[in-house]
Amino acid sequence: MAYFALDNDSVLEYVRSRDALDSVINRNGKLNADEIGDGNLNQVFIVRGSNQAIIVKQALTYLKVAGESWPLTRERMRFETQALLKHNELAPGLAPEVYDHDEEMSVVVMEFLGKHEVMRKPLVERRRFPDFPEHISTFLARTLFLTSDLFLSGVEKKEMQKSFINPQLCEIQEDFVYTNPYMESEENKWNPLIDAEVQEVRSNSELKLAIVEMKTAYMMHAEAMIHSDLHTGSIMLNEKDTRVIDPEFSFFGPMAYDVAALLQNLVLNYLSHFAHTPDPQKRSDYQHYLLGMIRDIWNLFAEKFDVLWVENNKGDLVPDAYWAYPGGAEAFADFRKNYLQNMLQDVAGHGGTKFLRRMMGIVTVWDISSIEDEVKRADIERMAIRIGKRWLLERKSVTGIDDLIDIVIEEAPFRSD
Ligand code: ADP
Ligand code: MG
Repeated sequence: MAYFALDNDSVLEYVRSRDALDSVINRNGKLNADEIGDGNLNQVFIVRGSNQAIIVKQALTYLKVAGESWPLTRERMRFETQALLKHNELAPGLAPEVYDHDEEMSVVVMEFLGKHEVMRKPLVERRRFPDFPEHISTFLARTLFLTSDLFLSGVEKKEMQKSFINPQLCEIQEDFVYTNPYMESEENKWNPLIDAEVQEVRSNSELKLAIVEMKTAYMMHAEAMIHSDLHTGSIMLNEKDTRVIDPEFSFFGPMAYDVAALLQNLVLNYLSHFAHTPDPQKRSDYQHYLLGMIRDIWNLFAEKFDVLWVENNKGDLVPDAYWAYPGGAEAFADFRKNYLQNMLQDVAGHGGTKFLRRMMGIVTVWDISSIEDEVKRADIERMAIRIGKRWLLERKSVTGIDDLIDIVIEEAPFRSD
């Protein structure tokens, strides 16, 4: 079928035409559709039958938020589909199931997550998700380790990497995370009350050197298949179940980027409670909870990654025979320990950059933008900038997750008022 943009009517015809959907929805019964996408890039339809529902996601030929003035290839839906299938294979139960995909129409049809919600909002409402660190650390450890040279042969990894060359979406992150926010660029937006801080960042050479080092890693360090947009808006969950959605930015990049995106978003949520939660007791209780969540996610991730590695050291990077000598087991353990420590330092660097970009670039996050009082918001934005700077500048001395958490507490202490 030649490509056309679906609407609430044509999506029904489309669903009726897809044999692959027979087992998930009654194609010949009564159907109705709604476009529910609150996202920035694509169309997302929910199609309901008498007792089933599915999600039909389609890429347009331009960026949805920007309109036709910002063309973007539809190929992004191929990356999303490939990544969703991979996530289902490597981390079963932690991504929506894929029912059908259609490259010509730039469509993926997937499981409707009707009992889940996008994580950002319930975090602002101070809701708790006790199993989330367990789930997301499994997702991260498995998707990153199992697509890297630590597990795959050199040939397998490069074959896979070939199908994840994602130039256009990479360029968006390269520009809007690592470059434009720190120079004159017309799309940049920031609170006028923090203009002095923004200008200081833009002319701080030490910081700009650190940011460009992180950009170098993003562009050149093809370590594993990363999600590459793993903020709290790309996670749908409830108390019992967690799913990672929206992997259209996937490519082979630095593992630390995914961990950084998540932890940095949780810290932004921590900061947002200085405005969203006026009651000091409730606020600091929840802020402690968030810091505990950050600690658990990293520690569980590092533990699971290490276990996967010890049990599946199958990659061409360092075969077991390389370590087969007296003292080799200790050397292998040191290599693994250093690998994870370097990754945590890169989490600080990418995460630090992402604090800054959210305060002075093209898009902020809803946790912060929903704070109406500009003075309160500026206070919080200054904290985010200070934390971002310190994560970046102090990254090379980081040895454990508490180093990053301590910086948060020092720059944004719990308050009793
Ligand atoms: P975009 O690529 O345009 O950012 P997303 O994949 O983030 O699109 O989806 C936009 C919104 O659609 C999500 O924030 C969520 O509210 C809803 N959504 C996406 N996928 C599903 C799903 N599988 N089940 C239920 N809702 C979904
Ligand atoms: Mg998206």
